[in-house]
Formats: sequence, C-alpha cells, structure tokens
Amino acid sequence: MTQVAASAETRQLFIGNESVKPHSGSYYTSINPATEEPIAEIAAADVHDTDQAVKAAQAALGSKEWGRMDASDRGRIIWKIADLLEAHLEEMATLETIDNGKPIFESQYVDIPMCINVLRYFAGWADKVQGDTIPVRGPHFVYTRREPVGVIGAITPWNFPLILSMWKIAPALATGCTVVHKPAALTSLTALRFAELCAEAGLPAGVLNVVPGKGSVVGQALVEHPGVDKIAFTGSTEVGKGIMRDAADSLKRVSLELGGKSPNIIFADADLDAATRGVFNGIFSGKGEVCAAGSRLFVARAIHDQLMEGLIARAERAQPADPMHPKTRMGAIVSKQQQGTVLGYIDKGKADGARLAAGGLAVKVNDRGYFIQPTIFDDVRNDMTIAQEEIFGPVLSVIPFDDSDDVVAMANDTQYGLAAAVWTRDITRAHNVAAQIKAGTVWINMVNFYDAAAPFGGYKQSGFGRELGKKALEGYTENKTVWANLKG
Ligand code: NAD
Repeated sequence: MTQVAASAETRQLFIGNESVKPHSGSYYTSINPATEEPIAEIAAADVHDTDQAVKAAQAALGSKEWGRMDASDRGRIIWKIADLLEAHLEEMATLETIDNGKPIFESQYVDIPMCINVLRYFAGWADKVQGDTIPVRGPHFVYTRREPVGVIGAITPWNFPLILSMWKIAPALATGCTVVHKPAALTSLTALRFAELCAEAGLPAGVLNVVPGKGSVVGQALVEHPGVDKIAFTGSTEVGKGIMRDAADSLKRVSLELGGKSPNIIFADADLDAATRGVFNGIFSGKGEVCAAGSRLFVARAIHDQLMEGLIARAERAQPADPMHPKTRMGAIVSKQQQGTVLGYIDKGKADGARLAAGGLAVKVNDRGYFIQPTIFDDVRNDMTIAQEEIFGPVLSVIPFDDSDDVVAMANDTQYGLAAAVWTRDITRAHNVAAQIKAGTVWINMVNFYDAAAPFGGYKQSGFGRELGKKALEGYTENKTVWANLKG
C-alpha cells in the first residue's frame, strides 16, 4: 500500500452511504492487466475502517428505515437496484473488463446481466420467506420465524468480481440482513460503484458498506469482529480453511465457496461437436479463472484423437486479444503475479512428462499486458500436479480412459468437488454418472450454466453452504421457534 495524492480517479471507502477517506490515508493502485496502466487509486481500509463499517451495518440492522421496513418494500428496493444496474450496464461492464481483463463480450453479456437477474430473483423472495406452524403435543401454539442472521461480512475474489458479490448481497438484502463487503483488492471498482447505485435506489445508509483492502487486514478484521454474524466467503480453499478456524472463536456462521478441479467426462457415444465446444468453453471462457472450470478432461480413447483435433484447432483460433474489442474471447490474466503462477504450472506439467499439445506461452497484445495462450496438455495422469492442483488459468489437462467403469473413480479422485460435466447420448449412463460424481453441480451434455434459481456450491474441499436459489435463503436466516401456552 502506498501513500498517493488524491486524484480524479481516486475511489474512497463506502460506509453509511458516504464516500469515506481511509483512516490510515493509504491507497493502492488498481492496474488494467491488459495494458499494465493504472486505472484508479483505491482507498485501503484498515481495522479501524472495518470497525466503522460494521458499526454502520449494526445500526442499520436495528433501524426503523431497514430493520422494520416491510419485506415487500425491501423487495421493491432490490428491484430498483436491478433497474439502475441495467441502466448502467455498459459502464459497469467496462469497469469489470478494465479491472479484471476479461473480454467485454463476457462482462456485457454474462457478468452484469447475471447480476441483474440475481437481484430480480431475490427481490421476489423478500416477502416470501416464511416460517411454519407446528402441531406439537399439548395445548400449545408453536410457530417458527425466519429472522435475518444479522451483519454479513461478504468476502469475494477477483475472477467474477460483481457476480460473486451479488450472490451474497442479493439474498442478504432480501432477508433483511446488512452487509460489509470486502471485494478483492485487485478488482474493487464495480463493488464501489454498485454501492453508490444502491444508495441512489434508496437503500438506507449502512445497509451495504464496502471496505476494499488487503485480505489479511480487512478480511481478517471482519472474521474476528464480534459484530459480524456471518462470513460469506468465496475464494481459495487455503484462505477458506483459515477463515473457518478463526471464525470458530466467535462461532459466527460461515459459508465457503472454494476452489475446484472439475472433470469433464466424454464417453465415446457423445455428440462430438457439442462436446468439443463445451469442453473448450468450459475451460477457456473467463481465461480459466473460473472456480468451476472444466480443467480435467477425461476422454474415451476411441474418440481421443478426433476430440483433440477439434480442441487444438479452436485453441489456435482463440488467441488472446484486446479485452475491450467486442470480438475478443480470450482476455488478459488478472495480474502479473497470477500470470507467473499459471506459467509455473505449465512448466511443472512439462517437467512431469505431460505432452504440450497447444499454447503454453505468455504473450503480449500491442506490446503490453499479462496474457497466456489457451494451453492444452495431453497424456496427463490424474496424479500429476497439473491434474490435482487448481491452476486458475487457461490450462486444460487431458486424460484418456479405456474403461468406463473406472472413469468416475478417477474423476472423483481429487480433494475438490465443485462441479463436473458428463457427455454421452446414453441417458441411463448420464444420470448414473451424475449420481456417482461427488460434486455440488453436475451438467449433462452442457457445461458451466448458471441461473439465479439453481443452487451452487461445493462438496469436499470446495466448501459448504449453497448460493443462489431458494437454498441460499437458509444461509441468511436464523430459525426461531416460538411457543405460546393456549391452556385457559
Ligand atoms: P483468495 O482466497 O486469495 O482471496 C479471496 C478473498 O479473500 C479476497 O477478497 C482476499 O482479499 C480475501 N482474503 C485473503 N486472505 C484473507 C484472510 N486471511 N482473511 C480474510 N479474507 C482474506 O482467492 P482469490 O485468489 O481472490 O480467488 C481465487 C480463488 O477463489 C480460487 O481458488 C477459486 O477457485 C476461488 N473461487 C471459488 C468460487 C466458488 O464459487 N467456489 C468462485 C470463484 C472463485
């Protein structure tokens, strides 16, 4: 963190519906990974600022304006936020692309539209979260209330900056919680702008606060803060484990959406064209910086050569280009550091004896930026590092298989369990494999589809808790049982 003078591009913290200068006076520079140019100076929150944000969120929770607002009015405000986001779609998509390096095509047609859908979906839930009446023994009336968990510490990563924030903020608002959001330091711009739009839509002060900064400072402060009731985290498995350990001291609620090493299984009877397209997009859209990326490809040996031919041809066509160009499909890696991590894995794959079939190089576009070619390794063994560790970049590991009976065991042989895809024309096999895969999401003859209504989350070390859908509401509500004595 460096001390810099305030400039037109300086972004402050957002606490209590106001721009607030950081207590420490520290700012950090956000870089466009495609051009290596600075795009903004962002206020770095510290423990003091985090405490202020939590206090604002606590005050809003008990306020007349939010805490006692009718549920249907909460829904109306969330819907209005969605409308405002839609009105600012181009601005927000551009911010996401210059901050993260993803193609504008994705920001404009995937990221921001999904945020709008998620807001509208949860706006509809606001006045439909209800308890039960329970027939107990005796002259008693027993009912349950669904109450907001309280102050949510939302900690999000850099790969889908606004989408993964919305997966937390939208259900939190629908259930009447308040939020302190710590976006990833690399990509805080859309989170800050979004909070301004929320205020414009009429969200009362303190309901959504944004404190960018270092995970080890701001994230840690949220996890340790006694005023935070739940941490909703998306990020790496390593950091998630630390959060779970530290949250144990206050027993605050925790939901964790963590890493993945998702298998794509292609049987010999699959529609090869559809599978080739799906496998390619499943790993290379989002530059492979996707938690559910289909980074392990298990392919029946009978169709291996034909599938590889299709994948390599596509990889050659999808070379990295300027993310702001509407035709670009392969953008810039989020940072120089992440580029180095991915290149390290490519070196490891070669050293371990996997065969480099496409890509493998860092490239520049217009002499600048942190780009990597779509990279495919063939003849990978499932126990190699590149098949076991999450690379979080555009690298596909191809593992041919001979015996259909063994492939599910191989696919499950990973610490992760976020998602999987199976490609076959045999409907019985498709559903049997879907049942046997240990992952939170399984796609059949499709891959990487999401919907605001469909729950998403992990098995095993990919985390626990579900985001999206009706399931997500459980993570933002406490269940209270009320007994009344009816004996006259
Ligand atoms: P990361 O774990 O390094 O950081 C995630 C967030 O946690 C950031 O905001 C970071 O500042 C914060 N953080 C870091 N240290 C912290 C600490 N000690 N206490 C509290 N907060 C802390 O992850 P990343 O590199 O930003 O993102 C990539 C990872 O996220 C990948 O492993 C990927 O699989 C995972 N991810 C998972 C999903 C999912 O839905 N399962 C989605 C996207 C990304």
